[in-house]
Amino acid sequence: MRVEILTVGPLAVCCYFVICPATQKAAIIDPGGDEDLILGKIKSLGLKVSYILATHGHADHVCGAWRLRRELDAPLAMHKDDDEFFRTPEAMAIFSAWGFEPNEPADLTFEDGEVFSIGKIHLKVIHTPGHSPGSVCFYDEERYIFTGDTLFVGAVGRSDLPGGNFQEMLRSIEKKLLVLPDETIILPGHDYGDRPYSTIGQEKKTNPYITEFILGG
Ligand SMILES: [Zn+2]
Ligand SMILES: [Zn+2]
Repeated sequence: MRVEILTVGPLAVCCYFVICPATQKAAIIDPGGDEDLILGKIKSLGLKVSYILATHGHADHVCGAWRLRRELDAPLAMHKDDDEFFRTPEAMAIFSAWGFEPNEPADLTFEDGEVFSIGKIHLKVIHTPGHSPGSVCFYDEERYIFTGDTLFVGAVGRSDLPGGNFQEMLRSIEKKLLVLPDETIILPGHDYGDRPYSTIGQEKKTNPYITEFILGG
């Protein structure tokens, strides 16, 4: 599996390309804008996009998906809870405040445990609610986990947005992420730390939210 990254959009979202080198099939995770840049990269790498995957429904992570799914003829997949919640008036209000268009319905919705196959790569959905009701991480069950806005390098996601819940997010991190092998590489939805990626083991030692609120409590 090969991973490429582009930082996109007004809120500097980390958009990941998960590539199966044997088949050139790929998934795009969190296309948060800069569609021309994303399309250019797909073309230059000669990729065939199987899925557009959303770690959650916040507009800054999915605003590029509406055009990409048409131009690439690839389905946008999102957890069912965020697909529903972020099309309610309450949730929409914050997107317009940020200057985003309302979310369109996803093409596919998923739940915890579902697996997406991209050529020979398999990404498993781990439902980690708290940053939003349908926040998820995508795990290749070997080495990499894409953690969206749930777990950052040295921090965790905010929980003050509609549908957010801090205790629930901490529980998700404890029960679903900290149980993974220490050497699992975390690829977050924003580069907020002192380096762009980390490992579960490193975060257990140095992430203050984990050391104080989860392991210290
Ligand atoms: Zn978010
Ligand atoms: Zn974000």
